Amino acid sequence: MKSSMLRKVYSAEEFRKNGHELIDQLSDHLEAAINEPNKKVIKWKEPDDEYDFWKEYNPNNSFAAFNQEVIKRCVHLHNPKYMGHQISPSAPITALSSLLNALLNNGMGVYEMGMAPTAMERVVCKEICEVIGYGKSSDGFLTSGGTLANLTALLCARNKIVKTNVWEEGNTSKLAIMVSEEAHYCIDRAARIMGLGAKGIIKIPVDSNYAIRTDLLESYFDQANEKGLEVFAVIGSAPSTATGVYDDLEEMANFAIKKKIWFHIDGAHGGAAIFSSKYKRLLKGIEKANSVAIDGHKMMMMPSITTALLFKDGQDTHHTFRQKADYLLQESVEEDWYNLAKRTFECTKYMMSLHWYILMRFYGRKVFDNFVTTLYDLGREMRDLILTDSFFELAVEPVCNIVCFRVVGVTTSKDTLNKLNTDIRQSLLEDGSYYIVKTSLGNTTYLRCTLMNPFTTKEDIQGLLNLIKVKTHQLLSLKNNKP
Ligand SMILES: *Cc1c(COP(=O)(O)O)cnc(C)c1O
Repeated sequence: MKSSMLRKVYSAEEFRKNGHELIDQLSDHLEAAINEPNKKVIKWKEPDDEYDFWKEYNPNNSFAAFNQEVIKRCVHLHNPKYMGHQISPSAPITALSSLLNALLNNGMGVYEMGMAPTAMERVVCKEICEVIGYGKSSDGFLTSGGTLANLTALLCARNKIVKTNVWEEGNTSKLAIMVSEEAHYCIDRAARIMGLGAKGIIKIPVDSNYAIRTDLLESYFDQANEKGLEVFAVIGSAPSTATGVYDDLEEMANFAIKKKIWFHIDGAHGGAAIFSSKYKRLLKGIEKANSVAIDGHKMMMMPSITTALLFKDGQDTHHTFRQKADYLLQESVEEDWYNLAKRTFECTKYMMSLHWYILMRFYGRKVFDNFVTTLYDLGREMRDLILTDSFFELAVEPVCNIVCFRVVGVTTSKDTLNKLNTDIRQSLLEDGSYYIVKTSLGNTTYLRCTLMNPFTTKEDIQGLLNLIKVKTHQLLSLKNNKP
């Protein structure tokens, strides 16, 4: 006999009632976030206070009360004053595809456990490959985040390029990758997971704009060879996370082709610019890369977490997780496209293709062009505002929607400026009208904005700069009044 509790848990009526209520709450939230200018982006709580709240909390069987509390206690990405980390205000339709995914819950480990999303995944990946400019033999898959996509690409590269069979025999030779010292930390982590160790991660210095110095690739490669290291891949950042500056991908591609090594592009943030007719020039040379990772949850309006990993030669995707001898015995690649778990790290995987497919089919590729172009344009507007005000200083000329700057318009030394900018960011967090983050470049602390919300206006940005001035003066007068 089924327990009454389980009947209640699975009650369609309860789902219908709670679901309608939730959609109403989220719609109200969305409307207010976008249209009510004085709403806070975040109501900051100290971690221990937040913990104490949830430890004691009792929703008293009210799902609506629980939802309200969660909404209240999260940062609001749909508020135009959200300018913090690189994650999309999700397109509402993809919140609905999340719901569809969650209830159907096909695990996608094998084809029949997700027939529709498996087929959609192929459609979506082929379409992105086409936009990249890859040829007919290109292919790809979706995976759980840029971090995992980069690791998967490097595993594939190792399998393809390295002379020994590491998958079977383990690391018998000293292997290495080359990457900019400004690359996302997950590249370093991937290399260490692969057993390359610190010596196997050759960090190439950056120029004054924080882009990889391509003029050094050759000499670093030679030095590595002399030390007995076998370099099998070079990774370009598109862009690097901290500054938003793109590496020269064309130069890197040419270098990789000449050395017969793998070229992977970490386009987690800005790979989506291939969809922008105005900004795709930043990715010049992308079609020569062996693999490209693009996050859906950053510049493509999707809920976290979903990443497309595309390969110039689709065959390459089939032997990452397979012994080489086994690979030779396999039937044709075409027969096997639908067994995605053979090619991805995941066994169970959520039906992430629903988000990509629904956006492409409902709005077309143009929606990504609109989104990326609007936000990259906003980055330029912010740059202009900062350049005309000597109170601020840019870290680097912004090329996308990531803008790093700091307060300098108060006479104080470098160390105190670092402290001051750190304090400004903390006071903004506690104020909650805006949400921005900070970063360190060299020994200097910068405020960092990623303009992720297409409804952010020039006035919103000016409002942030004004608020920073107010906070700066408050902080300085507090300090001066201390006994
Ligand atoms: C965000 C980011 C990553 C990590 O991607 P996740 O999807 O968060 O795992 C990797 N590289 C770059 C350049 C990024 O911006």
